[in-house]
Amino acid sequence: MNRIEWNQYYMAQSHLLALRSTCTRLAVGATIVRDKRIIAGGYNGSIAGGVHCSDEGCYVIDNHCVRTIHAEMNAIIQCAKFGVPTESAEIYVTHFPCLQCCKAIIQSGIKTVYYAASYKNHPYAVELFEQANVKVEQVEFEGIVLNTTVNEK
Ligand SMILES: [Zn+2]
Ligand SMILES: [Zn+2]
Repeated sequence: MNRIEWNQYYMAQSHLLALRSTCTRLAVGATIVRDKRIIAGGYNGSIAGGVHCSDEGCYVIDNHCVRTIHAEMNAIIQCAKFGVPTESAEIYVTHFPCLQCCKAIIQSGIKTVYYAASYKNHPYAVELFEQANVKVEQVEFEGIVLNTTVNEK
């Protein structure tokens, strides 16, 4: 029996979440993990009940889509909404976090960032993570094949 490695399991969850993304510019997923438990997840999309980029097109200002809330932000906000501590947690993201998310990650007390793909890795974000002693590590996502068997009678 082949058990999936923890890193790959959380990274798979983030990639699954990314499939829910509504922004056509980039599909990102984020999973927050504490004590080996998934405590929150997010993907980049509009505010709850808002129109979707996938329906109306992106709302682009200065080459950024301003409609969406990033996956990392959504995961952290989910913790705020339901009162779940993020202190000393880890976050698994499909893409290297942007500067805004970097700062939110640091302020939320998250201590480790695992990312699958580099994405415009901002030097200031790299610097801030270092300064805040947040460990940043690239985890290549190997992909998963779901092989579930249904018992036939
Ligand atoms: Zn968009
Ligand atoms: Zn971001």
